[in-house]
Amino acid sequence: MKYCKKCLMPDTRPGITFHEDGMCAPCHNYEKQKTTDWNKRLEEFEKLCSKYRGKYGNYYDCAIAVSGGKDSTFQVYYIKEVMKMNPVLLAVGNIDWTETGRKNLANLSDTFSCDIISITPNHNITRIMAKKAFIELGSPTWYADALIYAYPYRMAMKLGLHLLFYGENVNYQYGGKYDEETPSAKLQPLNDVVKPVWDLWLKDGDITEKELESAKQPTLDECDKHGLEPVYLSYYVPWDTHHNYEVAKRWGFRHLGHEYIREGTIEQYNQIDSISYLLNQYLKYPKFGHASATEMASRWIRAGLKTREEMIPYVKQYDRNLDQGIVDRFTEFINMKPREFWSIMDKWYNKELFTQDKDGVWHERYEVGVGIVK
Ligand SMILES: [Zn+2]
Repeated sequence: MKYCKKCLMPDTRPGITFHEDGMCAPCHNYEKQKTTDWNKRLEEFEKLCSKYRGKYGNYYDCAIAVSGGKDSTFQVYYIKEVMKMNPVLLAVGNIDWTETGRKNLANLSDTFSCDIISITPNHNITRIMAKKAFIELGSPTWYADALIYAYPYRMAMKLGLHLLFYGENVNYQYGGKYDEETPSAKLQPLNDVVKPVWDLWLKDGDITEKELESAKQPTLDECDKHGLEPVYLSYYVPWDTHHNYEVAKRWGFRHLGHEYIREGTIEQYNQIDSISYLLNQYLKYPKFGHASATEMASRWIRAGLKTREEMIPYVKQYDRNLDQGIVDRFTEFINMKPREFWSIMDKWYNKELFTQDKDGVWHERYEVGVGIVK
């Protein structure tokens, strides 16, 4: 286990690459933003937008995939207020919304005066899939993530639209297999977030192909035939988590802190529309030795808001804490006893990173920021 010498991201993150200088690709990509010719990118962006702006008269000229989070708020601000487009917002709803998340999504419509078209995921399938994906992959939000990558593409085409915005390329920005910087989000569904394991879900016959269909991404061929241009806003404007949050606040975005204080995170503004969604984030801890605190601390260090030394104690303290509310909500949702839950959690611990004592408690074999020590 090797840590980036600038931030606190270890090389256990799937797909992440490190440069010879000991810095991770996300740190390099963040630095690259400082020398990127943003005026040129903005010219390209204006060219792209002007191709569609007002193209269909008073009808929408583009679509934005939104969740209601800070990045969504930033996107709608940028596309509607700055670029003067007429977007429709496409959202995948949550089953276990937080009040704050629900209000933030409604705020997008209210503040920016936009229509929202959203899908409420199939409750039955969400429940079955959350359980299966937890047991089989250690990624309980697999189905929700698949929908987020499928629904906006499909709906944009159904609406006869051609320009579809996503926020950032997570592989490029935070590390992953497909970390090349491109304006196009065509290959986004191939990233590592949603593993292509469709057959795995069908093998025991609980679920039919029909029931999974809405989470299936249209093929590249279908998108090309339609002339769909899915793009990342982060290619055209500098992308910074905390900056987006500051902008979003000015447009009515609310953090979670007044409703719920989560354990295991160092902020209350990222991925806040559903509490149990964070179980997915937490599972990176047993698997890879880093979770939400590492991710956010690394973003802050890259942005120069905090130093590596300052953040080490926070990562040590927070990453290992799984919020009890998450466990309660999740086990209730999938109807699982705590005992079974914890025995499945045991399965996801990487024994190179952790040792288990005689009472079942796991202990880190690594030192945050350093690597394996025991
Ligand atoms: Zn780094």
